[in-house]
Amino acid sequence: MSVQKPWSATPCNRKYSGVYAFFACILTLCSPATLSSQTPAEESGCLSRYEFVAPHMGTIFRLVFFASDASGASNAANAAFARIAGINRALSDYDPESEICHLEGRRPGTPFAISLDLFSVLEQSRQIAEQTNGAFDVTLGPIVRVWREARRTRRLPTETELSTARNACGARNFQLDSANRTLTLHVPKMHFDFGGIAKGYAADEALRVLVSHGYKRAMVAAGGDLALGDSPPGTAGWKIDLAPFGSNSPGTLRINASHVGISTSGDSEQFVVIDGIRYSHIINPATGLGLTAPCAATVVAPDATQSDAWATACAVLSENDSVAACIPESIQVWIFTREEGVERYKRFGRPPPGLASDS
Ligand code: AMP
Ligand code: MG
Repeated sequence: MSVQKPWSATPCNRKYSGVYAFFACILTLCSPATLSSQTPAEESGCLSRYEFVAPHMGTIFRLVFFASDASGASNAANAAFARIAGINRALSDYDPESEICHLEGRRPGTPFAISLDLFSVLEQSRQIAEQTNGAFDVTLGPIVRVWREARRTRRLPTETELSTARNACGARNFQLDSANRTLTLHVPKMHFDFGGIAKGYAADEALRVLVSHGYKRAMVAAGGDLALGDSPPGTAGWKIDLAPFGSNSPGTLRINASHVGISTSGDSEQFVVIDGIRYSHIINPATGLGLTAPCAATVVAPDATQSDAWATACAVLSENDSVAACIPESIQVWIFTREEGVERYKRFGRPPPGLASDS
């Protein structure tokens, strides 16, 4: 874990998938008038801006918050990073010892107890799968693995490989029992992939830890998935620049927000070109193929779990022009496209409370 001194330069945060979402937060203040809603941990002195950075979940997690003492800030940051590591032990697809990797050997049809984190993420994933007509699907693990191999070998998956993988997928093939907190799998070889939601969930939980230590003026960035708490002192919100095609892009948008999650999904870095066609790491569950349209989706939602999942889903939905038909209240979406060097964006939905309405 590295710590940047209070008053450090404005940070710049690069999304893991190559999409940029960078933020600028402005100074620390010590004006009683602007700090009336301080928690005990914030109120004992002049607030300074702290930033802590550590690698987790294949990306960089950045905690930015305002505190009056260095040791309290450091303790809170350690606790937040420990929480993120705990979530990774449950949800990681890359750690063979994770809870979800251990699920693979389970006999179909038998309910078994699962952790609260896994249950919570599965429940939220199921709801978003229903709202998106299956565009968001955490049961795609077997297909994601086939495409990961395709990216490695630069060879298109065969029909047989894809259809075998698809037989082990399907959001209807698992059942949750909230009374007993159990999961039942209905087909063999199922494998969950939470790559489209876990970082947002971890960012939300890390923010919750900072708030529980008394630091409400906080932000957690998990690569390009942001969880925002109260605004920095003396400001009306965190200033976030959205530049899905790079920080020098003419299409950069600035938004001002607090108490929301913000995520961007696209194929800027994770893709494979085979026979001249560019396939994204995001899969269209209807076809089992990586997305081929060059686009990025940015979502602002009430929290980062939802913004992360909806950004992945909206990348899929934009391929069929069905974003507008699916998004519920309080979700704001921008779909960015670039054709022959010309960048455009379209905005859908309604902003959640916490996103300035002129954004
Ligand atoms: P993100 O960068 O948040 O859009 O997540 C992309 C990751 O989510 C991929 O690398 C896969 O692990 C996973 N994924 C791919 N397609 C889907 C999908 N349609 N629904 C849910 N997760 C997906
Ligand atoms: Mg996502």
